[in-house]
Formats: sequence, C-alpha cells, structure tokens
Amino acid sequence: MKQFVMLLCFAAACIGNTDIPVDIGILYSDEDPIADIAIRHMEVRFKLFTNYSINTHVVNVKDMGSCTVENIVCDIIEKGIYGIIGPPSEPTNLIVQSVSEKLELPQLQTFWNPAMNDADNRTQILNLYPDANMLGKAWATLIKEMRWRSYVLLYEDDESLLQAQEILKFRREAADDFPIMIRKLLPDSDQSTLLKEIKVSKQIHVILVCRSDRILDILKQAETINMFEDYRSYVLMSLDAHTIDISGLKNNSANITTLRMISTNKNSVRNVIRDWEFMEEQFQRPTKIDPETIKRPLTSGILSDLLTGTIEFDGFGRRKNFKLQILDFYNGRYRHTGDWSSEDPDHIKPLATPSNDTVYITDMNLQKGIIVRVAAKEGEPYVMSTYNNDTGQIEFEGYAVDLIDEISKLLKFSYEFYLVPDKKYGNYDPKIKNWNGLIREIIDRRAHLAICDLTITHERGRAVDFSMPFMTLGISILYSKATRKMPGLFAFTDPLSQDIWLCMATAYLIMSIIIYITARLTPSEWENPHPCDNNPQELENIWTFKNSFWLTLGSIMAQGCDILPKGLSTRMITSMWWFFSLIITASYTANLAAFLTNERMGPTIESYEDLAKQSLIKYGCVEGGATATFFRDSNVSTFQKMWRTMASTEPRVFQASNKDGVKKVKTSKRMYAFLMESSQIEYERERDCELTQVGSWLDTKGYGIAMPIILKSMHAECNEKYIDIMR
Ligand code: GLU
Repeated sequence: MKQFVMLLCFAAACIGNTDIPVDIGILYSDEDPIADIAIRHMEVRFKLFTNYSINTHVVNVKDMGSCTVENIVCDIIEKGIYGIIGPPSEPTNLIVQSVSEKLELPQLQTFWNPAMNDADNRTQILNLYPDANMLGKAWATLIKEMRWRSYVLLYEDDESLLQAQEILKFRREAADDFPIMIRKLLPDSDQSTLLKEIKVSKQIHVILVCRSDRILDILKQAETINMFEDYRSYVLMSLDAHTIDISGLKNNSANITTLRMISTNKNSVRNVIRDWEFMEEQFQRPTKIDPETIKRPLTSGILSDLLTGTIEFDGFGRRKNFKLQILDFYNGRYRHTGDWSSEDPDHIKPLATPSNDTVYITDMNLQKGIIVRVAAKEGEPYVMSTYNNDTGQIEFEGYAVDLIDEISKLLKFSYEFYLVPDKKYGNYDPKIKNWNGLIREIIDRRAHLAICDLTITHERGRAVDFSMPFMTLGISILYSKATRKMPGLFAFTDPLSQDIWLCMATAYLIMSIIIYITARLTPSEWENPHPCDNNPQELENIWTFKNSFWLTLGSIMAQGCDILPKGLSTRMITSMWWFFSLIITASYTANLAAFLTNERMGPTIESYEDLAKQSLIKYGCVEGGATATFFRDSNVSTFQKMWRTMASTEPRVFQASNKDGVKKVKTSKRMYAFLMESSQIEYERERDCELTQVGSWLDTKGYGIAMPIILKSMHAECNEKYIDIMR
C-alpha cells in the first residue's frame, strides 16, 4: 500500500499541482457491502496525509465477463488513470492484470493470489494479501504446534484445497504418516450428510477452508448434530473468521482456532472502525456530507501504524514480513493466545503469561461439573477390580486408584473409573495407522485420563500428553531361582541309562552261566574231597549255580569273592568279566559325580548378554507394551538380536500381561525368562521367593498419567498436586 501510495504521490508530484487530482481506477464487486465506505475513506485519508486529492473511477465488475471488464479497463485508462486498485477476485483479475502489465500501469491486488509466485518482472503489480506460500506455512505451523495426529480437511473448491497444501505437505513429511480425511463441501448449503460422516468417523479435529461467509452456517449445522462437545477442535482457515459472531452457538465446548491479521485491540484499528461507522451514518443521511466534518474524525489516524501491520513487498510484489495472531474461541469469545511471524515461520510464540483469560477446556469441564472419565488397564498392584457382593458393583483398588483419588480431591473433580476394553496399554499399529489400548481411549476422547503402570515413551508422547512420572523404573529380567530337588528312590540309577542297566543284567546272567558250565567241564575245577584218600571214588566241584553267580556279583560290585576258579579256562573267563566290571564301575562312578554336580548348577544366566548368547532358555515380554517397543526400536545390536529371537520363536514367547509372564516363568522350570519392568519385578519378588531379578536395568523411564494434548492447564496443575501428594 505504502508503495502504491508513493506511486500515486509521485504521479501527483509530477503533475506538480495539488489542485489537480490524481486519477485512479477502482474495480470492486458489490458483494462487498462496505466497499463503498472503504473507497470514500481512502479518498479522505489520501487527501489528509498527502495534500493531494484523488479522483476515483469506480466500477462494479460483479458478474462481468472478461471482454466487458477489458472494455471497462480500457475506458478508465483513457481517462488518464495512474493506477488500478482491484479487482477483488481471481477470475476478473486475469484480464486486468494483463492490461496493466502491457501498459506498465501499477495495479494493487487485494486477494489471495498464488500466481504471484511466477510474477517475474511484474514490478508494477503489488498484492496486499499476505504471500500465499508464507500464509500456507503459518496454517501448517499452527496445525503442527497443535500436535494434531489426524484430522478432517473440509474444503470448498480447488482454490481452498490449494490454500491447505502446506498443511498436507507437512503431513507427508511427518514420520508416522498419520491418517487424515479430505472432503469437499457439498455444493448446496446443506452439509448434514457430510458432517454426519465425520461424526461417525470419530475424527475430532476439523480444518475448514472456505469463504468466511459460509463458516457460520456450517458451524451451526455441526452444532445441530452435536459436533461441538468437549475435545472437538476446529481450525477456521480464513483470516476473516474472527469477524464472524459464533457466540450464539449453543453447547459449544469445542475449541475453535483461527488466525487474524487485524488486531482489533490496536488504536489505529479502533480509529478506522470508528471512522467507518461515522461515515456509514453519514451516507445513510439524505443530507450532503460536509467534508470538514469528515476530516475531523479522521485526523487521529496514523499512516505508519497500518491496520494489518507494516506492509512490505518483495521484488515480485508479494507481501512479506507480516504477523498473525492466534485466536482461540472458548467461553463465548475469542482470546489471543499466541503470535506467528513470517520471520520465524516454523514456530508459534505462545503468549507469555496465561492471564485469567486463558481458561482451558478442562477447567471449564470442572466448572461445569463434568465427570472425568479415567481409563485403566487391570494389573497388580496398580489397578485391581473386585466384585462387591453387597452393592453388586465392581470396585477398583490399587496404587493408581488411590493416586487418582487423591488428585481428584485436590483438584475437586468427580471421576469414574473404567477398564479399557481391549486390555492393552497402547501401541501404534502401522497397518491401521492408529493406536490401540489406553492411548486410543485418550485420542478418541472416550477417556479424559488414563492411569495404570503406563510407561511414558517418546512415541506415545506424540499422541497424548503425560504428567510428570510418578514412578521411575527400567527393564530387567525376571527369572526363577535354582531350587534343590529331593532325589528319587531310584536316583542312583540315573547315571546310566535304562538300556545299559538291562544289558548289564543280561551280561551278568550269561557270564554266571558260562562260568558255571566251563567250571563243570574243566577237570581242574574237580577236586578230591578227602585229600588223604589217594584214590577217591568221587571228585567234587565247588562251582554250583549259587557260587558262579556270587563270583560275578562280587566282582562287579568291586568286592571280590572268597572262592576263586583254578582252571585256565575259568580264570580266563573270570578275568574278562573283571575287566568289564572295572570299566562299568569306573564309568558309573564318574557319571554319578558329574550328574550330581550338574543337578546342583542347572542352566544359568546372569545378564541380558547371557540371554542373548544362548538359545536354550527362551525369553519374551508383554506383547505391544513399552518393553516390546524398546527392543523393537533399539539401535543396540544385542537388543536388536534379542528382538529378532523373540519375534521368531515358536511357540510364541510374548505374553498378554505381566501376570501371564510371571506364571510362565514359574512353570517353565528355568527354561523361560521374562523381560519386565523393574518395579513390577520387585513387587513379584516380594511375594514369591522362587523368583529373582537377573542383571541390572536396561534403560530408565517412568510411569505417568496420560491425557489429551489439549489439557494443558490441568497437566500443569496435576503435576504440582502430584508433587504435593508424594511429599
Ligand atoms: N508398562 C508397559 C506399558 O506401558 C507394559 C509392560 C511392559 O511392556 O513391560 O506399555
């Protein structure tokens, strides 16, 4: 504007006579009811500040075809104009712009024009509207800072979709490729089918990109189907949205955010509004306006402090270096909650001190007496449910229940507890591109808070907010202690297998019989029973069955025997048996010693490295929990290896809950180790002496209370109160 005004001043100066007015052409559309006042206001102000007067050639180009517009432009050019302001929209602009380019006539545009990006050498064209790219960035930064992980984009036409392209670009660049829904507004004014579809889809964030005059109607329709409850959020993507009176919307607990360029708090803006009101009054009067009367209210304005801030253009006529205010609508009016500046386009500066004005939605809930819904996952000792026979109700107890109870007393809210239906902590499923468990309950706003042994993780922190940690812990290994077994009655047979025992028994029988037969056949074993009788009638043989069996038994027991064979053949056979007995006895003794030592030691692990190195002892963790995520996402090679082993082991080593994990450790005879959080291990160890913790912590983290990202004030308050409670 400044440059344009300078151009006009220059033209006026060239004329050199303040009495001769500067001619300018103004193309407007009578859709804009205040255009008339704005033009008159400009005339008066120009005269006031430059001492030159302007002579405006005003044409309403509404619904005109390009040929007519071209003729009109040519007509007013012939009248000797120094520049053109307008037209107010794209379709008629094309022809005006091409004429102005050809004749090198300055043109001042006032609408969103992304084509300015290609405007090389069009130095005579200036666009007052903020640069399309930069403005797009401002909206994208707003969505980014609001940490919306999914939303519905409702757009009006191709141009509005183009306006939202920076937002869509940001989503494409985001690491987790979150789900969004893009819908075009229906051509007629009834949007109820579309809004119902959004309601059913459970999307709670809506970005509305349309003309500002359509916004109220769409919001009213959303209101009739109850789309303004708590936690729903709307971003109205129009710089004029703040001028719409939405205070009439009933049951509005939703958060409505928009950006604006003109701050109604500025004195200069107030002055202009007052001037306009005054002029409007004057125009409505049938009497002629007295220029002096108009001059008097208008002298208070300051040109440098322009309505939309300082105006600067780059070499292509695009408006640069502009500032926007972030407005949040709640409690019946818009509040200025932050600032965006094109100097730092990727950040929003929140207002430094939250005043009484910055009342967040939870405080409103508390004031309205809404019951806070607290979701939990059952698990000892944090949340345990019991059935009360007297009341017929399920009651909850445990550490987390007590904690939330204390917080509710301090913050004075009533709450109701419920268990998460899918019994999961909360894990991001890339297939459905959504969360499950407690985190999903918070995201879908079914719960205001989620509490249990819920670990604060970086990944979850992007979807929900966490309170300060109320417990610090780390991953460790739960294992069962080595226990001494009472030996069985036949434990002495353990060193040799059953087959060996059977073979030995058979060998014993056969050898005894062989010795018996051989001793009977060999003459050396036949002796004179009466040594004094040189010619005995009968000879005697001591190798009866009984003695043969006794000899073999005595030798295998390493005890020897008081009767021994004398014949060569029997001695040879006996020696062979002795040799066999020697080997067997030595093996048995050796085996027995090894067996006993082995039993005492058992398989053992002392750290996670030991676990990773071996394959005999299986190990696992809670499925879809923070521990599983830790191993899955770790960069440490040992943890990666452990994750691969866990994921590929059959039968599956993952458990549905800590309770199942503990049960598995106890029943697996030291063949299963459970990777579990240390606080839980401590709790289990205190209750069962068979269990032990192996090694130290693999990481350090904490449990926290999860809440929707919007609950900023409660978050801060919760933390403060929590510190009090812990004291
Ligand atoms: N506390 C974990 C979580 O919040 C669950 C248990 C585990 O993963 O060890 O996911």
